[in-house]
Amino acid sequence: MDADNLQLASSLVSASYVSQGGAALAARRRLIKGLLSNRRLPQTGWDEATIEMLLQDAALMDSNTFPGQVGLGEREGRVACPLVQRMHGRLAHGIGRSGDIAAEQPKAAGSSMLAKLAAHLAGDALSIAGLSGMALPLVLPSATGMALTLVISSTSSVAPPALPRYVVWSRIDQKTCLKAITAANLVPVVIELQRRADELVTDVAGIRAAVERLGPANVAAVVTTTSCFAPRASDDIITIAKLCSQLGVPHVINNAYGVQARSLTAAVTAACRRGRVDALVQSTDKNFMVPVGGSLVAAPAGKGRDWLVQAVAKGYPGRASMTAHLDLLVTLLHWGAAGWMRVLQQREELYGYLSVKLTQAAEQLGERVLATPGNPISLGLTLDGHKRADVTFFGAMLWARNVSGTRVLTSGKQQTVGGITFADYGCHISGYPHPYLTAAAALGTTNEDVDAFVVRLVRAYQELQGKWRRAAAGAALGATA
Ligand SMILES: *Cc1c(COP(=O)(O)O)cnc(C)c1O
Repeated sequence: MDADNLQLASSLVSASYVSQGGAALAARRRLIKGLLSNRRLPQTGWDEATIEMLLQDAALMDSNTFPGQVGLGEREGRVACPLVQRMHGRLAHGIGRSGDIAAEQPKAAGSSMLAKLAAHLAGDALSIAGLSGMALPLVLPSATGMALTLVISSTSSVAPPALPRYVVWSRIDQKTCLKAITAANLVPVVIELQRRADELVTDVAGIRAAVERLGPANVAAVVTTTSCFAPRASDDIITIAKLCSQLGVPHVINNAYGVQARSLTAAVTAACRRGRVDALVQSTDKNFMVPVGGSLVAAPAGKGRDWLVQAVAKGYPGRASMTAHLDLLVTLLHWGAAGWMRVLQQREELYGYLSVKLTQAAEQLGERVLATPGNPISLGLTLDGHKRADVTFFGAMLWARNVSGTRVLTSGKQQTVGGITFADYGCHISGYPHPYLTAAAALGTTNEDVDAFVVRLVRAYQELQGKWRRAAAGAALGATA
């Protein structure tokens, strides 16, 4: 309803009532105006009706919804099934064009506008989370691993004729991380971690030695990781950033779910200020509670510093789905700055809560929580009271009791990933001295989740121990008989 139509409506319905209704419409339009002019998260979250108004307006600005439009091309945003049409709010053109994934789509002014807004709000959300001084991030319609592949393979977009072949990679036992390198057709050079008491930390000297041995010109990138399963700590990204600056090699940070932890965003920001960071990749589902499918590729602001982000955008072959943008945009509008700060704050508090509860459970069971101060999200609990064969079974017991997301690890599992064979895969290192269980204080987890988990954990532990004791007693009886 614009002013003209409201005027006409006043001849049907009392002018004072229409004027009230018109004021309500104008209030929502003002929110949209504020968004378009500030390109920042609104302070408080929007109600769904206002979000729908924005989405509907955008969808009706795309050619597939124009009244009387006749499409003679092969890409006209046609959607056969009405349910699919509704699921996507009539937005069907996606994003980008063959030249650049961040470019405008001529047939879709509305979709292009939403995609740009998503990037701006994502940038604002990263900044609120503590990643300050960043250039506009690129929202990619792929999860973290594939985004890392695109980033790593784009390092050669400006390389000299002899392309660098190697990626120096600080070990993390999550298959995606290694496959992201091999999928880019590059050769991973694994730098093993070092164990410092319970915690696994970056071998900085090992990374330097590898880059020097290979020759900096042959190294496409050094890849480090922040968020990970305990007992691995975040890589020492500040020191590695300084090292990469010194040696003149690109530095890519896998910050998969690091946006949600203050200490990690502070470390990334410091690494960008004090050294070389060419790109950092983060998951949208893990950090923003949206369905899987998107990632944010960011880089520090400053002349030429986001070259790799630009290379990924420009190198992207073809158009792409805009679902990741849409999910992120709608979620950020739903939260607003205040809501986003609240979920971040709740997560920080949840880490403390999980830590306390897990420590209490450990005391009860005669185990202990691994000391991993360099990991602000994941915690490890020793499982020394079980035999090795039992430990793996313990993981299955928890799963059967509807506990998901925990991992039970013990040494001895050989596995080949990306053509490289690891002796004790899963533990991030060979010969870790304890079997252990990990649990994460991840964004969206509640105190109730932690309470229920700890009860089931203790019960399952005691059940398994009881079984084991009975079996041992039985064996002893058998021996004396
Ligand atoms: C989740 C995760 C990945 C893989 O991410 P996808 O989103 O599944 O591609 C890679 N690295 C780390 C550290 C992760 O946590």
